[in-house]
Amino acid sequence: MALIVQKYGGTSVGDTQRIKNVAQRIARTRDAGNQVVVILSAMSGVTDELISMAEKTAANPDKREMDVLLATGEQTTVSLMAMTLQGMGYKARSMLGYQAEILTDSSYSKARILDIGAERIKSLLSDGYIVIVAGFQGIDAHGDITTLGRGGSDTSAVAVAAAIKADQCEIYTDVEGIYTADPNICGKARKLSRIAYDEMLEMSSLGAKVLQIRSVEFAKKYGVPLHVRSSFNEEEGTMVVHEDANMEQVVVSGVTHSKNESRITLRKVPDRPGIAYSILAPVAEAGIGVDMIIQNTRLSNMTDLTFTVPKPDFKTALEIEKKVAEEIGAAEVMGDENIAKVSVIGVGMRSHSGVASKMFSTLARENINILMISTSEIRISCVIEEKYTELAVRALHTAFELDSE
Ligand code: ADP
Ligand code: ASP
Ligand code: MG
Repeated sequence: MALIVQKYGGTSVGDTQRIKNVAQRIARTRDAGNQVVVILSAMSGVTDELISMAEKTAANPDKREMDVLLATGEQTTVSLMAMTLQGMGYKARSMLGYQAEILTDSSYSKARILDIGAERIKSLLSDGYIVIVAGFQGIDAHGDITTLGRGGSDTSAVAVAAAIKADQCEIYTDVEGIYTADPNICGKARKLSRIAYDEMLEMSSLGAKVLQIRSVEFAKKYGVPLHVRSSFNEEEGTMVVHEDANMEQVVVSGVTHSKNESRITLRKVPDRPGIAYSILAPVAEAGIGVDMIIQNTRLSNMTDLTFTVPKPDFKTALEIEKKVAEEIGAAEVMGDENIAKVSVIGVGMRSHSGVASKMFSTLARENINILMISTSEIRISCVIEEKYTELAVRALHTAFELDSE
């Protein structure tokens, strides 16, 4: 008998028929003699719909209320799943984040899990229940509902798996595993049988939404092996595990893209010590993560500074910088939401050179202008115009010999 955590994403529970199909799969796992904890997302499209309803009611919806609203999507699916399983003759019980004691900090809409009181889940399991937990949501120290950021059900699943010391954590989604690029935009993408946590961390942080980055961080920290696979067939998916000698010996293992980027430029900033701090600290204080930063060479004591922030934070960051620009005497603030980031990733880059020049020459051949560049030990990212994203991903995928036949 094993203790298995299964997480099903939005498409997998997209309507009542799909909920029934997933229930069959859960039932089979239970029938095989396993204890099962299931984490569910909201039905696909529901979270987006809730956000757009909120935006119609208020220009800048209150963050606390927003999380109360968004948590309802998952409440629907867990209750429907429990009813379905009960109708099939199984003991099943749904649990919301607070009932599963998923304790988070208070950063509404991007809360971090601090602790999980797994006692209630464990006691239901030992009473023979299949436990169905709402993903994406938790509760903070004040008793308020929080959500974990888009794609957060992955993180709920891994955190629960770590807390109850599950033997397996399976992430069921709408593709067959983790691919060398998003299979929905790169037809030649190949499914990987295994990938190292470190590579997956980079892929997730650079746009591969198949796993939320926090889920990979948890999995690595607590040594939870993840099996990412399709909920629509029985194919083996991809194992996310510690790096080992049997991993494919390739330099580049994947290409990712993210359209969730925007950039802000402050022009003609007086170039003196502390200026980068004055510009970037207020953005950080607003809880906005700055990714790439470029400062141009100075021209008569003036410089330009450009940085990127996630698209949902663009308006807030722009407002902040307009005030900063006045305070520090910058000439102008410019913003651009029509950008994207393409990246190549691979642990093999540690011991190989020439990856960057190949990436730049490939983009040049396609006439794609590079707006910003950043690198780490195992990845290179370029910001480009958004309209070239698909072209860039496909060209890089071919150039780094990742194409399937
Ligand atoms: P779920 O609702 O199951 O959580 P998501 O939509 O969050 O599913 O994540 C699955 C999607 O991730 C896929 O449909 C695919 O478009 C996208 N994706 C992006 N990059 C990759 C990749 N490298 N491998 C697999 N899927 C990817
Ligand atoms: N429903 C949430 C979202 O759409 C969480 C998730 O699906 O993982 O982002
Ligand atoms: Mg997801």
